[in-house]
Amino acid sequence: MNKILAVGPHPDDIELGCFGTMARYAKEGNEVNFLVLTTGEGGTGDGNRNKEAIKSAALIKAKFFMENLKDRFISEGPETISVLEKYIDMIKPDKVFIPSATDTHQDHRATFHASMVACRTVKEIYAYETPSTSRNFAPNFFVDITDYIELKVKAVKIHSSQGGKGYMADRAVKGLAEYRAFDILLNDRYVEGFDIIKVVV
Ligand SMILES: [Zn+2]
Repeated sequence: MNKILAVGPHPDDIELGCFGTMARYAKEGNEVNFLVLTTGEGGTGDGNRNKEAIKSAALIKAKFFMENLKDRFISEGPETISVLEKYIDMIKPDKVFIPSATDTHQDHRATFHASMVACRTVKEIYAYETPSTSRNFAPNFFVDITDYIELKVKAVKIHSSQGGKGYMADRAVKGLAEYRAFDILLNDRYVEGFDIIKVVV
């Protein structure tokens, strides 16, 4: 049994970036934890984004934690590092999933860089892609989530306060997962792609 920690700067990032993989890890008997760094107050909606995030985490019985860093102003410095270190100390994860350094959203990049410090003793770190990840993202670790794609679509849909965004549509979520399957020459499958930041065995 592994302990897994997925870190999202905002309430919907984990769902978009790695929910299928988290669902698979949970089903396979691992302990899955979600940490969301902001309440997403800078996004659209009515301030219910924390409730949406709690509800989607519950789909796979992930342990859910939310912090209150300032949306759009997440720093890569001591404030964010100490928040992350608190959870690394508490959970002692074997694997951590974070946004990519190639992401165009400043909060996502800051989360990546703060995680590099806070996760220095973690043996496995993987970066996921989000709708704001740049074209330079080149995954080299692929997880077949075919059995979990409907759950991922459902989890994304729970974030209905952000639902007007095209990348949250069923066809967009499935389209990216199908595209990542084609990346590794798999037909009729759905896949999430990750950038391996560090693996120690
Ligand atoms: Zn985000």
